[in-house]
Amino acid sequence: MSLHFENVSFTYPGAQHGIEAVTLSVAPGELLAVMGRSGSGKSTILRLTAGLLDGYRGRIAINGHDVAGVPVWRREVGMVFQQYALFPHLNVLDNVAYGLRMRGIDAAQRRARALAMLERVGLAEHAQRRTTVLSGGQQQRVALARALAIDPKVLLLDEPLAALDAGIRQQLRDEIRTLQRATGATTLLVTHDQDEALSLADRVAIIDGGRVLQVDTPQRLYERPVSAQVARFVGHSSVLPGRVIAPGTVDVSFALLRADTGALRAGDTVDLLIRPEHVEPDPPADAVNRLAGQRAEVRYFGATCRYDFIPEAASQPLLCEGRRLAEHAVAIAPEHLRVLPAQASRFC
Ligand code: ADP
Ligand code: MG
Repeated sequence: MSLHFENVSFTYPGAQHGIEAVTLSVAPGELLAVMGRSGSGKSTILRLTAGLLDGYRGRIAINGHDVAGVPVWRREVGMVFQQYALFPHLNVLDNVAYGLRMRGIDAAQRRARALAMLERVGLAEHAQRRTTVLSGGQQQRVALARALAIDPKVLLLDEPLAALDAGIRQQLRDEIRTLQRATGATTLLVTHDQDEALSLADRVAIIDGGRVLQVDTPQRLYERPVSAQVARFVGHSSVLPGRVIAPGTVDVSFALLRADTGALRAGDTVDLLIRPEHVEPDPPADAVNRLAGQRAEVRYFGATCRYDFIPEAASQPLLCEGRRLAEHAVAIAPEHLRVLPAQASRFC
């Protein structure tokens, strides 16, 4: 089953917020993560998919069928929320079987199906217990089993790990991935956590202010962000404002740097993106893009160090990472400088 959003806009009644011209697609069996800050419109995308919000513009299609006007219960989506949202008056088994009962599946069949799902999430022996006595991680597994029990066309996960402790979060993250792969459920996962998005997703959509900035594989988002704004969502980087002065040369005010300027022209203002692991410490004197200066703040992370290096005459430090620390100079190979068109927002 696939999911498509085509130019979908939605504004909450009486508010100015929502989403703006969102175009997204989730291929059958794919896990797409929607990542963005709180308030960026992530849950709105899920609510629209589920049919919980009316009055949008654009087109939403599940498996090629426009779902405008199709009620929630007919959309056959499975949902998991941050706050488990289990039915407290039902035991674990009946929670998982709930959607099957709503669909008129007979008692024996729904029991068998619910038990099979509980088996998958490792909770079969808790079938008869009350959900309130389970840990947070167990409750979220029940919620997952409940969502998957109906064999949903689309699985919607809204920050499913956000309420859990770090250790359990990591474990359940891996379990979600395994379960999603095994069931082949077409999945939309919403999260503000980049580790979660990057480690779980086949592709990630970065959203900000209700707009999608880029949809790509985790690797391409890291290596080829379309803007400095996107780069800030994925990993660490330094962003230097600059201006192209000739093809292949960028002026960053304290130095002229060689870089691939692509289709940009002399006079264009740009953002120069530098990943910390690409800053070479104490390069040879004739190295390209060599910057003399001095090291500042060092943070130790065991296997690696992250530190600031302040090039001479620069007003901002360069973030560097590696086991060897720069003493007097650094260099960044031209192929590791990403030259991106500057965004108007930089001046806001
Ligand atoms: P996210 O899930 O990314 O944190 P949401 O999709 O819930 O963000 O919300 C997007 C924007 O819409 C936010 O600015 C939020 O304040 C606003 N919003 C969310 N729900 C409502 C609502 N029921 N009424 C008015 N505004 C809302
Ligand atoms: Mg939300």
